[in-house]
Amino acid sequence: MIHLKNAIKQLPVVYDINTRPKAPHLTVTDPANSRPIAFVETTDSKETEAVIEKAEKAFSSWSAKTAKDRCKVLKKWHDLLLENSDLLAEVITLESGKPIQEAKGEVAYGASYVEWFAEEAKRAYGEMVPAPWQDAEILVMKQAIGVVAAITPWNFPVAMITRKVAPALAAGCSIVVKPAEDTPLSALIMEKLALDAGLPHGTLQIVVADNPAKVGAVLTSHSAVKKLSFTGSTAVGKLLMKQCASTVKKLGLELGGNAPFIVFEDADIDAAVAGAIASKYRNAGQTCVCANRFYIQSTVYDEFVEKLALSVQELKLGHGLKEGTTVGPLINQAALLKVSALVEDAKSKGAGVKSGGQAAKMGGNYFEPTILTDITLDMDIAVEEIFGPIAALNRFETEQDVIKLANDTPYGLASYFYARDVGRIFRVGKALEYGMVGVNTGIISTEVAPFGGIKESGLGREGSHYGLDDFMELKYMALTGLGR
Ligand code: ADP
Repeated sequence: MIHLKNAIKQLPVVYDINTRPKAPHLTVTDPANSRPIAFVETTDSKETEAVIEKAEKAFSSWSAKTAKDRCKVLKKWHDLLLENSDLLAEVITLESGKPIQEAKGEVAYGASYVEWFAEEAKRAYGEMVPAPWQDAEILVMKQAIGVVAAITPWNFPVAMITRKVAPALAAGCSIVVKPAEDTPLSALIMEKLALDAGLPHGTLQIVVADNPAKVGAVLTSHSAVKKLSFTGSTAVGKLLMKQCASTVKKLGLELGGNAPFIVFEDADIDAAVAGAIASKYRNAGQTCVCANRFYIQSTVYDEFVEKLALSVQELKLGHGLKEGTTVGPLINQAALLKVSALVEDAKSKGAGVKSGGQAAKMGGNYFEPTILTDITLDMDIAVEEIFGPIAALNRFETEQDVIKLANDTPYGLASYFYARDVGRIFRVGKALEYGMVGVNTGIISTEVAPFGGIKESGLGREGSHYGLDDFMELKYMALTGLGR
């Protein structure tokens, strides 16, 4: 807590647990044991309107800067994020529960978006199109969309913010971010570091809300906000989409997933097990790209189950700040209850328990890393996003069967498969109805590739050179009379 204590002194709206503020506030707790770690003053709907107006003013000067000048500020912010990696990682672990090594990885990953978009800022090229008229030219240019609102989740408190803020700022937009109630501290630290990097006041503002629906209603209805970028549950995403309809805001949505993880008989089984561990148990299974449904070809099913169980035994459940921990607690008690209910439902309908299978005896919000076998479609766990350290395994017979099973969901975010036959790799890769396909890997996130889903998993892409376009409008100018 050393780093957090020092940081609190520099953050005007954050208080340590001995100083409860008089103003409206929320309590940030350690997911491991639900103990308070800090208080944060909150913003109400009226104040949110003022924040948006400030962002509108900031937009006109920020968007008028050269791309090179915006790049310089972003690069400085990137450097400061990395220089403060120990602080940010400790805070991520304290407020989200993830192991400190993963938290450090998240800071590096989050910062990589800032570096990437600092560079991309300079490459928002337009086009000159041959005109179909005499004495005319057609110019196509890209312009910053305006004020952006972002609403982000708790599972990657730093990276989910940089993934939206970096392209927005690179494009010339100003942005208001409402972080999740569980994880506002890292967001506030990042805001301070952005100001230290020279970002003008009002260009990036963090709004902490204890009533997300009320503040969300302002962000999605205010006419000055031109785009909403949201990462979170599909249910909330659909609601926000409706709310944005009245002012026809542009939308970027990263919603839920139901990722299949397929192991074919020609796969390298040891590599598949390593990929399964990385994809399933990272962040205690609380990521939207986590493997959710395992399909193992029947000829290699037993081998995969045995090897996976051996690897799961190696996982170390514990507090994220404790040396050696590889799986932390779930985010809160509601999450623990939900995961427990999914496992109980599966067990009652005939699932086998190969490892774990219950809340950990050590108490807190810990759930044992679990392997369930013989999952059937009548079980809730087969259709719901698990968001916990549970591998739900089933067997399949043919390639056609498994493609049908894998695509039989309204979601389309991430998918994974392990195979070595080149023909199969292309066939299956093309047939999977997902925005992202990991082939012989359980980790797919990188700033250089377009992250996003199809079907009910979302709209738009984050990262890559496509990511900047989501924060820009195309304008075309028809110039005529040039020969006269
Ligand atoms: P999760 O189940 O991962 O917490 P949510 O979709 O509930 O996912 O939360 C993601 C983000 O959406 C959080 O910042 C949360 O505060 C916010 N949120 C939840 N409900 C609403 C709402 N009605 N309006 C605006 N934001 C909301």
